[in-house]
Amino acid sequence: MKAAYALINQDAIRHNIQKVREFAPNSKIMAVIKANAYGHGLLTISQALNQIDAVAVARLDEGKSLRKSGFSHRITILEGFVSQQELIDLAQNNLDVVVHSIEQVRIVEKYQGPEKLSVWLKINSGMNRLGINPLEFASIYKCLKACTHVVQPISLMTHLSSADSDENSVSIQQINRFKNLVDSYPGEKSIANSAALMTYQEALTDWVRPGIMIYGVSPFFEKDGIDFGLKPVMSLYSQLISVKKIAKGESVGYSGTWVSNADTQIGVVAIGYGDGYSRYTRSGAPVLVNGKRVSLIGRVSMDMITVDLGLQSKAKIGDKVTLWGDGLSVEEIARYSNTIPYTLLCGITQRVKMNKV
Ligand SMILES: *Cc1c(COP(=O)(O)O)cnc(C)c1O
Repeated sequence: MKAAYALINQDAIRHNIQKVREFAPNSKIMAVIKANAYGHGLLTISQALNQIDAVAVARLDEGKSLRKSGFSHRITILEGFVSQQELIDLAQNNLDVVVHSIEQVRIVEKYQGPEKLSVWLKINSGMNRLGINPLEFASIYKCLKACTHVVQPISLMTHLSSADSDENSVSIQQINRFKNLVDSYPGEKSIANSAALMTYQEALTDWVRPGIMIYGVSPFFEKDGIDFGLKPVMSLYSQLISVKKIAKGESVGYSGTWVSNADTQIGVVAIGYGDGYSRYTRSGAPVLVNGKRVSLIGRVSMDMITVDLGLQSKAKIGDKVTLWGDGLSVEEIARYSNTIPYTLLCGITQRVKMNKV
């Protein structure tokens, strides 16, 4: 048995994609696999997506690695490009590209490569991160329509800032702003990330762009993926490397932040923030030892955490420990860590061995 390893369940990915299809039966799916597929391994995840309509990554280099691996489906580059050279590189690798600024439109106009460009024009409907100003949409659309080296009609997209929130007026406003602007234009439209496609019928246009939910994880802070019938794709495991008795009143770990209120047994698990187990996870967070819930205690170290096994525990060195995934949601761990599951998943480091199941 190895310390700190993750199992990536490819059946769970296929199951979750099927769930996406149930939420959005008339939409094509662009599975978002940026940031090393949310920490799950870009190539592992892409191999499980052989039935997908398209995938999206953030950066040119991510798209190129996928092409190098032989991935032949459509790939969209969400952050686009900043130079003519990058645009040529995109085209040569047969990557679809998001155009989100007037500067990028100028680069597209000057493009002279032999390959045609497949463009998603991104409109800022209120998030104010990427996207062109709605007031400039008509004129920019005209420019791109006049480009003979751009595949016509161009596709149109926007991104919602608050789809995971209970307060839905912001999302409704963004959806309406986008639809009013683009409805009379041809070309495919896309609005929804995971939270939006699970919440707003109005956001189910030609394409949906699920990320977190294909990994089986909920985009909503108070809910878990299993509440929606999703299955966790990543399970993170390690093992006990020490078990020791301590007396009531003794402290454990750096700065002695946790003090035992009874005689007990402490288990030391070979995982820490050097593996991507967050240092911000608080005492009391659940950990499974041989499938049984115990509590994290004291500070998370670089290579170790400590758990309170209880005086009666028969747990011993080498026993299996689950940090999240099968039987313990990463959403719950995120709630104990003042963060969202996205950061925990993306934070898994090189040291963690990744295996497919
Ligand atoms: C990351 C991203 C998504 C996926 O978001 P999830 O919340 O993971 O579903 C969709 N669209 C864009 C533009 C993104 O950047």
